[in-house]
Amino acid sequence: MTNRLFLTAAATVFAVAGLLGAAAPATPVGTKGAAGAGDPLLPLSGDGGLHVRHYALQLAYQPKTQHLDGSAVLSATATQDLSGFDLDLSGLDVHRVTVDGQVVAFDRAGPKLEITLDRPVTDGSDFTVAVDYGGTPHPVVDADGTSDGWTALPGDQGAFVAGEPQGAMTWFPCDGHPTDKSTYDVTVTVPQGYTAVSNGVLRTQHTAAGRSTFRWHESAPMAAYLATASVGRFDVREYWSRRLPVYTAVDPAEKADADGVLDQLPAVISWESSLFGPYPFDSAGAIVVHDKAIGYALETQTRPLYDEAPDLDTLVHETAHQWFGDSVTITQWKDIWLNEGFATYAEWMWDAAHGGASPHARLAQLYARPATDQLWSYPPGDPGQLARLFGVPSYARGAMALQELREAVGDQAFFGILKRWTAEHRYGHGTTAQFAALSASVSGKNLDPLFATWLYSAGKPTKM
Ligand SMILES: [Zn+2]
Repeated sequence: MTNRLFLTAAATVFAVAGLLGAAAPATPVGTKGAAGAGDPLLPLSGDGGLHVRHYALQLAYQPKTQHLDGSAVLSATATQDLSGFDLDLSGLDVHRVTVDGQVVAFDRAGPKLEITLDRPVTDGSDFTVAVDYGGTPHPVVDADGTSDGWTALPGDQGAFVAGEPQGAMTWFPCDGHPTDKSTYDVTVTVPQGYTAVSNGVLRTQHTAAGRSTFRWHESAPMAAYLATASVGRFDVREYWSRRLPVYTAVDPAEKADADGVLDQLPAVISWESSLFGPYPFDSAGAIVVHDKAIGYALETQTRPLYDEAPDLDTLVHETAHQWFGDSVTITQWKDIWLNEGFATYAEWMWDAAHGGASPHARLAQLYARPATDQLWSYPPGDPGQLARLFGVPSYARGAMALQELREAVGDQAFFGILKRWTAEHRYGHGTTAQFAALSASVSGKNLDPLFATWLYSAGKPTKM
């Protein structure tokens, strides 16, 4: 993510009341999956007891009325004997839920859709959940005052759909914590003249009776927060870069500023591939809307989403996230520096390779900031509060930690670490502890003091 408008606000805490008190039905086997994946910073996000292998979403959106109709089919596997489970879903009306074709009882409690099974599902079994739903989606306001999720654009422009950290639940029922990654088919029907853009490859599009339907397929595992289905009257460009299909969708009002930057996308992907290893996905692109009030860009998988024409650094940043965040995904939000520190460091390297300051000079320049600067307001390895997740230290001090690592181990080991990291955790997950262990193993050095200082110590380190 790239924040342009970082707002601070009093932390909003999810209402937990009502979620924990429901009595489990008396069934011979199985218990209800936990309400939440247990993330210390977002305890109710995600759901225990199941893994979603694949989402098939069929959506219809009407920009004029902002009404969304949806059908979600989740192919899931039980990770315990289940008598019921929750899915994340905020707002929207649920009309009907079936499990393996049988209508089941459901309830709503805060941002949860609670499903009770007539017949328990045993640990390791595959099952299918189908949810019919609809209504007017509303974004969620996060602890830092920004909002995410399905965001209608002013007038009848369309919608900006970005879900970090918890907004996926505003437009489809999901296991919304990044610990669960799934493949996706997203089909969206919109009035003729609009384009609906999701992740991955566009399989088909057709227009009939004044409505256009776009069928998208994401074949690589994806965290729910990286899914999109943005809608607009876009200027679309499709082309091949080597063997990679590229699809860009740009609001005409941003076209003049965006096109020149987006023309650099193949060069950025190629340059980042030389540093980070092969590009992880089977498609690429960008979505550019025209609403700078949103204030951020997000690395939606294969096709980052920008609230206005990006500058080149932002393009480099969101593209780097395709490796760091999208292919290699965090398991807890407190590890966010593994996304933002790395994407910021990619910007530093790009600038240095194109006549700008060296990463060492950037490190020194930042280190010169006084101890009272917000750069030192929390250690990036442990933000401690949800409101801090996308604060300056996660980005800049995270990148400083990487430059410190590079200076400690040398270029050969450093770039070896980056490539092994993206290869060994490709399409999966990574933790800060695993990154530290890999760095020590590749370099043969004791790096514990370095990571303790740059990731975990409060305040400004005593020396650079
Ligand atoms: Zn970012």
